[in-house]
Amino acid sequence: MNDEGPGPVDLLLRHGRIITLDQQRRILVDGAIAIAGGRIVAIGPDREVGEAAVARARETRDLRGALVHPGLVDAHVHTANEIARGFAPKTHMDMDPIDLAMFTSPRTRDIDRLGTLLSAMEMVANGTTAFSDTGSAFNLDAAAGSIEMVGLRAVTGHFLFGDADLGAASDVRGIGTEEADLLKRPFEECVGLLTDQLTRYPFRGPQRVRGAVVMYGSGRSSDELLQRGMELAGEHDAPMVIHQHWGPDEAESSRAMYGKAPIEHLADVGILGPRLTLVHMIHLTENEARLVVETDTRVVHCPGASMRRGMGAIRHGRFPELLGAGATVALGSDGYLNKRDLLRQAFLMMMGFREVRGEFPIVTGEQALEMATLHGARALGMEAEAGSLEAGKRADLVIHRIDRPEAHPRWQDPVDGLMFYRQTSTVDTVYVEGEAILDGGRFTRFDAEAAYREIDELAASVLEQPLGPGTFALWPLVP
Ligand SMILES: [Zn+2]
Repeated sequence: MNDEGPGPVDLLLRHGRIITLDQQRRILVDGAIAIAGGRIVAIGPDREVGEAAVARARETRDLRGALVHPGLVDAHVHTANEIARGFAPKTHMDMDPIDLAMFTSPRTRDIDRLGTLLSAMEMVANGTTAFSDTGSAFNLDAAAGSIEMVGLRAVTGHFLFGDADLGAASDVRGIGTEEADLLKRPFEECVGLLTDQLTRYPFRGPQRVRGAVVMYGSGRSSDELLQRGMELAGEHDAPMVIHQHWGPDEAESSRAMYGKAPIEHLADVGILGPRLTLVHMIHLTENEARLVVETDTRVVHCPGASMRRGMGAIRHGRFPELLGAGATVALGSDGYLNKRDLLRQAFLMMMGFREVRGEFPIVTGEQALEMATLHGARALGMEAEAGSLEAGKRADLVIHRIDRPEAHPRWQDPVDGLMFYRQTSTVDTVYVEGEAILDGGRFTRFDAEAAYREIDELAASVLEQPLGPGTFALWPLVP
């Protein structure tokens, strides 16, 4: 673990209280991290690692006991739609006016560029260093450019709804049949989009923005497309990420079409396994949960997305059981109805299961933090690079402030303090590959003020002006 080579150290972080998430789940009460070439070269007690590396360090930071943990991994996001958030119906859950405006009107490059910019900024400000966008970019290069500008790690791809015609079946409070008909593409076109993103944004390699096989899923792709997608994922050593089990109608239509539950059908299609990541997974049967565990298929739980629309992830979800059985269950913040804050998702999940089931503990803070880091990295095929602070991994990490009330008292065991109290409100500095992309709360790579101006202007022109400023307002807007 403490592999202090003779080479120079680019950055030495000393005297941090470090939650490592390493194999032993060590918490270094007075720890140090030595970073060179973007990777952690040594991590351990400061009296060992700090002392040994200090003479070789180009830059040293004394963290004065600040909390440090691995960068969070948001395993399911739709970045490009971000400019729509906060502009939503308040007295019902029909999102069609917004969905139609965002998905089916001509999608400009600026919607993808600035929506993704806002989303990526908020993730970083809340301690996320890697995320998966499950295909929401209509202009992939514009979205990728924003991610690269902010500097975090991403798995992404073109918006790809699928090629299947499901007839009358539609998602409950998801994308309806009318939009689905507008959004689906022929098989060859879908394969072309996937091949394009995997080729131009290779999954394996040093780059931060990486193409993967991402599709809407939820029964919207033909079996042939799912199989071809998994072949491409294998060829490019990339993950395949799709939605599954959002509304209960998915199970109904699967039973009507195949006489089987959706995961049983995916087992027949032959794509279950550790390369497949299934997002939502709300309405699993016991047998489907067993299939997930046996095949080591990855799951992403999006509690906030479900709660906001009353979909039942906490009422029906088997996530504590999946975790107990050893499954990978990552966390995701999903669409624009949620804040890009992964520890908020963790908090909602922990509280939700405790409240609904009335047993303690259901999911501990430690388990939730594993989900937000290690499980997220596994769900995105990045477990060799991210998810924990260990020698050899990329130096993606978060440093918290100590000058906020939430940061105190400062117990030697900081996990509950982080997960139930401070969460991300004390995030101060975020490193990706040893580079501070957020430093003391400020973005280092671009002008954030200019970005906010552009984002606000675009949102007004795309939604507020065409639909009307008071479209969803319950209280009078006084100019
Ligand atoms: Zn989604």
